[in-house]
Amino acid sequence: MAKIYKMPQHLADLIAAGEVVERPASVVKELVENSIDAGASSVTVEIRGGGTELIRVTDNGCGMAPEDAENAFLRHATSKLRDERGLEAIGTLGFRGEALAAVSAVARVELTTREQGAAEGTYLALDAGNVTAKRPEGCPDGTTITVRDLFFNTPARLKFMKNDRAEGAAVTAAVLRCALSHPEISLRYIKDGKEECHTPGDGRLDSCIYSTLGRDFAAGLLKAESADGEAQVTGYVSAPSACRGNRSWQIFFLNGRCIKSRLLQAAVEQAYRNVLFTGRFPACVLFITMKLSAVDVNVHPTKAEVRFANEKAAFDGVYWAVKNALAGEERKAELAIPEPVIPANVLQHAAAAPRSDFFKTIPAETYRKAAPQSGAKPYVYGSERANSWANVKDPTNVLYQTKFTMPAAKTAVSDAEETVRVPEARPREEDDFRLVGEALDTYVIVERGESLYLIDKHAAHERVNFDRLKSAEREIAAQLLLTPAVCAVGAEAAEILEENAALLAGFGFEVDRFGPDSVAVRQLPAEVDEKDAGPLMEELAEKLKTGRDIDDIRDGIMASMACKAAIKAGRRSDPQELYGLVRRVLSGEVRYCPHGRPVVMELTKSQLDRGFKRA
Ligand code: ADP
Ligand code: MG
Repeated sequence: MAKIYKMPQHLADLIAAGEVVERPASVVKELVENSIDAGASSVTVEIRGGGTELIRVTDNGCGMAPEDAENAFLRHATSKLRDERGLEAIGTLGFRGEALAAVSAVARVELTTREQGAAEGTYLALDAGNVTAKRPEGCPDGTTITVRDLFFNTPARLKFMKNDRAEGAAVTAAVLRCALSHPEISLRYIKDGKEECHTPGDGRLDSCIYSTLGRDFAAGLLKAESADGEAQVTGYVSAPSACRGNRSWQIFFLNGRCIKSRLLQAAVEQAYRNVLFTGRFPACVLFITMKLSAVDVNVHPTKAEVRFANEKAAFDGVYWAVKNALAGEERKAELAIPEPVIPANVLQHAAAAPRSDFFKTIPAETYRKAAPQSGAKPYVYGSERANSWANVKDPTNVLYQTKFTMPAAKTAVSDAEETVRVPEARPREEDDFRLVGEALDTYVIVERGESLYLIDKHAAHERVNFDRLKSAEREIAAQLLLTPAVCAVGAEAAEILEENAALLAGFGFEVDRFGPDSVAVRQLPAEVDEKDAGPLMEELAEKLKTGRDIDDIRDGIMASMACKAAIKAGRRSDPQELYGLVRRVLSGEVRYCPHGRPVVMELTKSQLDRGFKRA
């Protein structure tokens, strides 16, 4: 019996809509991009309830004729692309003709629009893609689109929406990027009745940055520029002293389109090498202009990622623009740049798929010695993307190691033994115990005075790690993985981890989204074994989700890290690892593991004697 049938149109549309419209922020982005494409000089964005309740975008652009107004909501209906030739050089933000169809398929939409100079405008209402009303209406020039009850007919998607605050924050980020991409457009953003930002629209990037990202941000910026190569770059980067704790402030526009690009991030960060403290990230707003035909923007449903015909040109353009900005800064204030204590010689190119024959997998130590010093030419990228995610389980898959201080750093490290954390292999003069040995690869046996002690080495080590993390005064060493560990944790967990990337960065993790239900882990705390990345990510997501408050979440993260970093029961440890541990346990400092299990059991001589009927 035949099992295959062609799905009904509305089902196909719903599925397609899911790709374009992921969350309220994607709706806002599409609508504002349409306004920009329509040549608007003024755009107002209004949201309520994180955007699921209401999104309204009003522009003074070209507007639509009555017949176009209805066609605009058909799938693959666009005024921007006529033939395949057009696809090679796309100059508008939209071209797929999918956004309005997708949005209207999963919400209740109203449109009022009037073409410039037309006598009257059009009103159109749609419910889950079906037109429910259409009539002529008096309205100002331009277009207003109102989207209500987003995902009301797709409960599965609705379930994935985070709270209004989180969705609202994502909308804000999207709006600010749109505003920054066009300083000549005056953009007004109103969230839950409150004006969050209003750009002047005077065409100046600096005033636009001021009104979107704030005064503090605008104060610490350096002008970046390079025009020699195939990629012209202009914009601003943060002064080394004004860098951030994460990468969310690295904003790139390619031919006016906001894009995500590991390649360009790497270019920026490489230009900062030896200037920045590790764990600090430069912020930037950079505009890259390349020939339209040198870029393929049609590789991603929401067009957030692009493909460069010449990756090296894009990389070099950005690299030199940033380098120039920093060089200017150095001349201006020779003493202002702090001497880097730990040079941030980061080659952040893991995700940019280095050519496999260019790279050798080498131990971190070797790499560090061989790492090029400042002033070196920028790294040259290969263009093949093959195998970039393979080889995940390779234990030597560590690009380099670095140390950084916890965000809540209090005091400098004083106890050298603990910093390096290689316990001594030999007993010390003052030790009042004798390490008898290890049993069952799990318990350490120690004799002291009139007692025998059995120590659960994993639980004890876990506790030691936890306390060390918690004291927040030690440096966490982190390892950058040569190829990211891709962890399929499920869509919800992936969302949560992505949302909390900044928080996790404070603990030495670098995690970002990799497809709908996975994350790519690019950096781990040094003591965590790479093969634990997957389980650890799942655990962290769970803690982030269920934590009562931020302190609870932080404790949870630290407990998980402590556990993964601890010597494992069932694995034989050398005496070196054990001595330090025993000292801490017998000093009474460590009694319970972070999960509350005891770490040590005491058997007194009299207990033993009684057992053997000696007493
Ligand atoms: P695309 O932007 O890829 O063409 P959309 O579904 O976003 O696809 O929009 C379909 C068409 O509707 C656009 O090509 C454009 O002609 C018209 N349109 C959408 N929004 C606006 C607007 N704000 N002002 C004028 N025309 C618009
Ligand atoms: Mg569009």
